[in-house]
Amino acid sequence: TMEFTERVGRVEPSATLAISNLASELEADGVDVVDLSVGEPDFPTPENVVEAAKDALDAGHTGYTPSNGIPELKEAIVEKLDADGLDYGTDELIVTPGAKQALYETFQTLIDDGDEVVLLDPAWVSYEAMAKLAGGSLSRVDLSETDFQLEPALDELAETVSDDTELLVINSPSNPSGAVFTDAALEGVRDLAVDHDITVISDEIYDAITYDTAQTSLGSLDGMGDRTVTINGFSKAYSMTGWRLGYLAAPKPLIEQAGKLHSHSVSCAVNFVQHAGIEALRNTEETVAEMRDAFNGRRDMLVDLFAEHGIDVPVPDGAFYMMLPVGDDDQAWCEGAIEEAHVATVPGSAFGTPGYARLSYAASEERLREGVERLADAGYL
Ligand code: PLP
Repeated sequence: TMEFTERVGRVEPSATLAISNLASELEADGVDVVDLSVGEPDFPTPENVVEAAKDALDAGHTGYTPSNGIPELKEAIVEKLDADGLDYGTDELIVTPGAKQALYETFQTLIDDGDEVVLLDPAWVSYEAMAKLAGGSLSRVDLSETDFQLEPALDELAETVSDDTELLVINSPSNPSGAVFTDAALEGVRDLAVDHDITVISDEIYDAITYDTAQTSLGSLDGMGDRTVTINGFSKAYSMTGWRLGYLAAPKPLIEQAGKLHSHSVSCAVNFVQHAGIEALRNTEETVAEMRDAFNGRRDMLVDLFAEHGIDVPVPDGAFYMMLPVGDDDQAWCEGAIEEAHVATVPGSAFGTPGYARLSYAASEERLREGVERLADAGYL
């Protein structure tokens, strides 16, 4: 019989799997499920981006590329980062098949057995898995008492980090809470990172989707340039989840080390997809604004609908998720909601914050309204 590594035994399959399995089973039985569990925009990829990929294929861009990415895409990424106040050169980038791979390479490059990784809960599920696979030990700061905001929890963060902390992960706008951290919060992170010599991952994959306040890029703060790993990708901003394109930007020594993992594992991101990425970065402003406006309208609608049912949801300021308070047993609530109301959501405990269900509003207003109605009719609100 095969024997498996201790390493792979450290992680569980994604906790969202149980819900999506249930949803699939119901759908196979012909049940109409309102699926509010998905982490991808419900819009098509912008047409001009699709055209750019076709053109690249026709032009024969089908071979390997330089491992860290094609120069034209790297230039376009540097311009985007520059517009965010970040000062990276093209030699400070690795273009990856999705932001997930960029994060994976970063964890593998920075974390040794026993190194402390600090997460802010609720945290996207894969940070924990990546930290564990790298051998890291986790410390967590709970933001559920502060409406998912970091600024009022800075004291707690200060108590959690120390000179032993290797890595802190910041994700704003946040999956799953939709919170956008204030500049004061990010400055607090900076002060702690500088004091304790901590490297910070700033996962900015939802930066194009903010409603009331724009997202400040952590690496643009004084003192953070040489200790920030900026992660971003094309999945959410340009509705390109299946294209698998993302990147990490970091000081050159980290790029040199992570680049070894990159070249020995994925070799490079897909050639013609990288060409399409240039079009996405340079010529999608209007489409991105339309998607953002649609998400904004849905957020407002959902907040109002829940208020009509007497439920105050912490109002998300970005991304396309919100956390619905559902009582102590969120797992049971989510299982019941899908079985009885046929509405799929993800339990907050999957993200380290029991007591909530994560709703994705990457669905039409009609379906969202239907989802809320079903939950109400089945007694779940
Ligand atoms: N980071 C966060 C917070 C996410 O929610 C996701 C996707 O769900 C990713 C990173 C990875 O995105 P991708 O690998 O599709 O670029």
